[in-house]
Amino acid sequence: MIKTTAVVVGAGHAGLAMSRRLTERSIDHVVLERGEVADSWRTQRWPSLRLLTPNWQTRLPGHGYAGDDPDGYMPVADVVATLTDYARLVGAPVRTATTVYTVRGAPEGFEIRANGDVLHARAVVLATGACNLPAIPGIAGAVPPSITTLTPLSYRDPGQLPDGGVLVVGASATGVQLAGEIHRSGRPVTLAVGEHVRLPRTYRRRDIFWWMEATGLMAERYDQIDDLTRARHLPSPQLTGTPEAITTDLNTLTAQGIRIVGRLGRITDGVAQFSGALANTCALADLKMNRFLNRADEWATASDLDDDLPPPHRFAPTRVDPRTPLELDLTSGEITTVLWATGFRPDHSWLDIPVRDRTGHIRHDGGVVTGAPGLYVLAMPVLRTRASTYIHGAGADSEALAGHLHSFLSSRRGVR
Ligand SMILES: Cc1cc2nc3c(=O)[nH]c(=O)nc-3n(C[C@H](O)[C@H](O)[C@H](O)COP(=O)(O)OP(=O)(O)OC[C@H]3O[C@@H](n4cnc5c(N)ncnc54)[C@H](O)[C@@H]3O)c2cc1C
Repeated sequence: MIKTTAVVVGAGHAGLAMSRRLTERSIDHVVLERGEVADSWRTQRWPSLRLLTPNWQTRLPGHGYAGDDPDGYMPVADVVATLTDYARLVGAPVRTATTVYTVRGAPEGFEIRANGDVLHARAVVLATGACNLPAIPGIAGAVPPSITTLTPLSYRDPGQLPDGGVLVVGASATGVQLAGEIHRSGRPVTLAVGEHVRLPRTYRRRDIFWWMEATGLMAERYDQIDDLTRARHLPSPQLTGTPEAITTDLNTLTAQGIRIVGRLGRITDGVAQFSGALANTCALADLKMNRFLNRADEWATASDLDDDLPPPHRFAPTRVDPRTPLELDLTSGEITTVLWATGFRPDHSWLDIPVRDRTGHIRHDGGVVTGAPGLYVLAMPVLRTRASTYIHGAGADSEALAGHLHSFLSSRRGVR
């Protein structure tokens, strides 16, 4: 049995940021990582992935981007290198190749079983991420067996796909990026589009994430957001990071030759049926984008920046072909691959403490897990602010939760 004050599970950016915060407070801890530092970026992301957040925004406690391309978008290999360097910089006590199988309550804390070890800690921080498993709808079971199916976790590059048409389901960050890449490989691509968040890559010559920070959107706190459940389940923005900083909206994809169809609702006898509400779905996304651009313009005027920026403008509404098909016969041979770009979900199945709700999500108040004093969770969407969804959000979140954890330990010391 190994005794330590705190255990952090997962050595991604969030676990490492937390380690730094605990070290700052002289809290003895260990970071348990099933693979290597940044393992999900090494093993679960496709090689051509680039961050959709600009390099200047990839900042962690005690670390800022110092390269020569602050406005670029980091390829996945650079994310791995950045996090590996960061682990070294903060001296994170990471035990690699150590998979946590169980965390359960124990007298005065928690028992953690990892590989052959049993650890005992007074506090545990869950930093295993929000994107461990693909979120695939139940209708996936109705895809004819002759079709190859992939998820973003199993996708590497178009070379692994059979020849023929590809149906990409989901048009958020992952779907639009992979639809574009597969289309460029020469395969006909159909993209099924449900609810999505349309945003331009740049606006008035600034990256859209610059606007999101400047206007205060990113800093909006979880306890001040009207519909928090909805905010936490919002799809990722329809953005990609490319060297040319291009906008990857549906108009761009259509112009490239990608066929846009509505949300995939059902598959009956091998026939995929798409929603007829595509035009409405797109109109709503356009409306919400324009609402944000209005907010950006108002902020620029109020901040006296209009003279320094190009004038406001608006983007063309999403064009939807009225002849968009509502059905596609998956048995006809036209489609040989279905790629589910329908989101991700966390995997906390190894947590043997009753803190999850009916949908499997951990109940927490800004990362402080409900009903389990000493247990914390990090890097969930909109955990404490809208920035929590992104790498740079871990800075403030880890600071707040490490502060809470420190007070928790101090109060327990007082009790004994
Ligand atoms: C496709 C994709 C694109 C993204 N693009 C961006 C982007 O552009 N900008 C941005 O800011 N963020 C981006 N995100 C990242 C997002 O910020 C993070 O995935 C998320 O916030 C979680 O970060 P994390 O450090 O908690 O998790 P991860 O980076 O996933 O780290 C969790 C670690 O926990 C380990 N682990 C898991 N289970 C166990 C276990 N049982 N025992 C021990 N170790 C375990 C894993 O091996 C992993 O190393 C993207 C995510 C995805 C999936």
